[in-house]
Amino acid sequence: MEEKKSFLRQTIDLESPNKNIVPVTTSVEVDGKLSVGGCSVEELVRKYDSPLYVLDEITLRNSCRAYKKALKKYYPGKSLPIYASKANSSIFMSNLVSSEGLGLDAVSEGELLTALKGGVPNEKIVFHGNNKSDKEIQFAVRNNIKIIVDNDFDLKRLEAISNSLNHDLEIMIRFTPGIECHTHEYIRTGSFDSKFGFGIEYLNILFASIRETKHLKLTGIHAHIGSQIFELEPHNDLSEIMVKVILDAKKFGHNIEELNVGGGLGIKYTESDDPPSIDEWVKTISNSVIKACQKNNLDFPTLMCEPGRSIVSTAGITIYKIGAFKEIPGIRTYLSVDGGMSDNPRPITYQSNYSACLVSNPHNFNSKNKYTIAGKHCESGDVLFKEIELADCKTGDLICVFGTGAYNNSMSSNYNRIPRPAAILVCDGEAEIIQKRESPSDLLKYDVLPDRFIKQN
Ligand SMILES: *Cc1c(COP(=O)(O)O)cnc(C)c1O
Repeated sequence: MEEKKSFLRQTIDLESPNKNIVPVTTSVEVDGKLSVGGCSVEELVRKYDSPLYVLDEITLRNSCRAYKKALKKYYPGKSLPIYASKANSSIFMSNLVSSEGLGLDAVSEGELLTALKGGVPNEKIVFHGNNKSDKEIQFAVRNNIKIIVDNDFDLKRLEAISNSLNHDLEIMIRFTPGIECHTHEYIRTGSFDSKFGFGIEYLNILFASIRETKHLKLTGIHAHIGSQIFELEPHNDLSEIMVKVILDAKKFGHNIEELNVGGGLGIKYTESDDPPSIDEWVKTISNSVIKACQKNNLDFPTLMCEPGRSIVSTAGITIYKIGAFKEIPGIRTYLSVDGGMSDNPRPITYQSNYSACLVSNPHNFNSKNKYTIAGKHCESGDVLFKEIELADCKTGDLICVFGTGAYNNSMSSNYNRIPRPAAILVCDGEAEIIQKRESPSDLLKYDVLPDRFIKQN
């Protein structure tokens, strides 16, 4: 049997989990079966059923600590890593990042509420969004959560609220720096085509108009240039541009104390991915800010960054059970699992690639077995893997997909009225529920049949 080197045999980078495909506690036990966080994956499914989201606590904590540690090591001023909660928002995740001393960013009242319920202190929460509702803005102001102003519409409403309350409101602004990132290159554009933030060329007008307000106090600037980025140059350049913007703001009398460079560090989904470590990423940003500040005689601002994917993605796996097989001779073998695009919309949305293994035989990748792993939804594009090599699979076997901690659960849907999977946390051989499995009847909770239809029947 031909065998390629299993990615499960690769050395694990404990300090920078984003450089691994698998959670840092992954192992293949003496019986040849997969375990994560000291828990047998087979037993987890026996107890909690499938499909199942699993998060590994050690991987999560190591990722948070890597950001804290590197900022402390490389940046002489104050700093705060802020978890971008859209990657995976839950009361549990809010609580975990907060216990590690991270802040949190939110883009809706739902995410804000989740953060507050999870115990994130309000002064460590920032509120983003390109179309905040009045209700959301009022919720944030009432809870003393700092708002990142994205556009004039935000600015006008915050000015009105601060005037009506007759007290000062601290704000940050988001701008688009004109740096566009691709996976292997980046290009500069005069004006970045984005729905988010103020164009950099508009900032002087903005600084002047914030000066005219009675109660708005501009304390910080923010930019976010993209996601799943493997190069360091874009963030090096961004940090430099941001220091220049602080100097510009100064000319208008604004004392900018906070510099937030956004998120974007990539993770290793497949063997060909090679992202920088968290340490290297933070070092690049820190050095760039330090250099630009020293050159311009500027005090070091509080340095903030907003990692999402690189905090939670590698900590997460999804376990599916194999059902139907369909062999189309000479073409391909479809293997269908009990989940798909409703629990992981990334393959159908972005053609994203993942790594996977058979839970009962994780090291074995037989090049004769090329399976196309399909989801169970009524959509031909609901395919999680095209032609993946796995050990011999049969109905009832379990498949583990790695790197699903970010943008899976948080982007999940109930398409085809399929209930969301349960999510569990594993650590030191213990498993705990962090999100209950939905049931089909849960999905009917908000359906309403108008009275006159009930009478008709
Ligand atoms: C999405 C996003 C992030 C996080 O991006 P990752 O690539 O997951 O690190 C941070 N900040 C803002 C404003 C975002 O929109």
